[in-house]
Amino acid sequence: MRYIFHTTFKCNLQCKYCHIIKSDVTMPIEVANDIINFIFNHTPIKEKIEILFTGGEPLIEFELLKQVTSLIKKLSSFQDRDVKLSLITNGTIFSEEIKKFLLDNNFSLCISCDGPAFIHDVMRHFQYNRGSSYLVEQTLKEAVNIFSNISVQATYHPATFRNLHYVIEYLISIGVKNIYLNPDFTAHWTKKDADLLPVIYHKIANWYLNYAQKNESIYINLINKKLEIIQQGGYMTSDKCSPGSSGMAFSPSGDIYPCDRFITDSSNNENSIGNIYEGLFQERINQKETTGFDFQEKCIFCDFKNLCMNWCCCSNYLTSGFYDKAGPFLCASEKAAINTAINIYKTLRQGSTRASFFI
Ligand code: SF4
Ligand code: SF4
Ligand code: SF4
Repeated sequence: MRYIFHTTFKCNLQCKYCHIIKSDVTMPIEVANDIINFIFNHTPIKEKIEILFTGGEPLIEFELLKQVTSLIKKLSSFQDRDVKLSLITNGTIFSEEIKKFLLDNNFSLCISCDGPAFIHDVMRHFQYNRGSSYLVEQTLKEAVNIFSNISVQATYHPATFRNLHYVIEYLISIGVKNIYLNPDFTAHWTKKDADLLPVIYHKIANWYLNYAQKNESIYINLINKKLEIIQQGGYMTSDKCSPGSSGMAFSPSGDIYPCDRFITDSSNNENSIGNIYEGLFQERINQKETTGFDFQEKCIFCDFKNLCMNWCCCSNYLTSGFYDKAGPFLCASEKAAINTAINIYKTLRQGSTRASFFI
């Protein structure tokens, strides 16, 4: 199971699309300890435990990160469990000490970077709009040589998505091979924006095919995930995450959320599904559960219903205000992504290489 620790709401950046309402709230070490015990007790013994640290900016509280990691590793059951630790950072705070700590503790590293400066700095900046790209690029260039599996999370927004193919070009030029492109679902996407998505995703497909046909491996979630689903013939029930069953996110006070995107600040807990002291609230979970197209009239006759993420309560809620309804932007993005992946799949099948090689 995947667990997300929001160790702090502090952040040195002021990204325009940030969903965290910044404050000085930081997770007390006692709460962190209780969350760790909750995680290890809650996860079935044979299941992998993936713990991702995020914020705010988790490296602002580097000492806390060290303490929490040490608590995890001191658990008597730690050696017997399959535990993976990861960190997602905004890439502006990096030092020899941080690098050594992450390497010594076998952390996977993910850096948020929206692309080259002319794209990244539009949304991701310090106070007074001072861009953060110069620091993030420095960190990325250093980190790709040290962390073999480094990934980048790039958020796109109506103000930046027209240049999405430059994001891929830029990240590849730095040496990043694992790229997660995520739309800002909460942004105001117009119909005109949505209509452009097939063109934009097609440009990314060209980059992807260029690599695939040279037998070079690259992972772009928008494409690889859909190729995987196409190859297996659609989402299976086990692929569809239901709140609390495949992952949880913890706020600094110990409230539990189905996803990190539902955490906004320390007081807004209408989307929470429990807390570590009282456990999970089943009625809140039921409220968010969705089986996908069964609930949505527009999806019943859609050719893509088995390949679509319309079952994701988080993306649904952020695009439509309802847990069980995909909003117009999600629907348009899914259609464009599925069509793009189908075209890539066909191209790869027609070539000499097997499509499955790239998935
Ligand atoms: S780095 Fe993350 S937490 Fe900080 S302002 Fe940007 S989006 Fe928000
Ligand atoms: S693409 Fe749109 S209509 Fe089709 S299944 Fe997905 S959300 Fe429903
Ligand atoms: S509900 Fe959606 S966004 Fe949330 S964890 Fe599941 S798949 Fe991810």
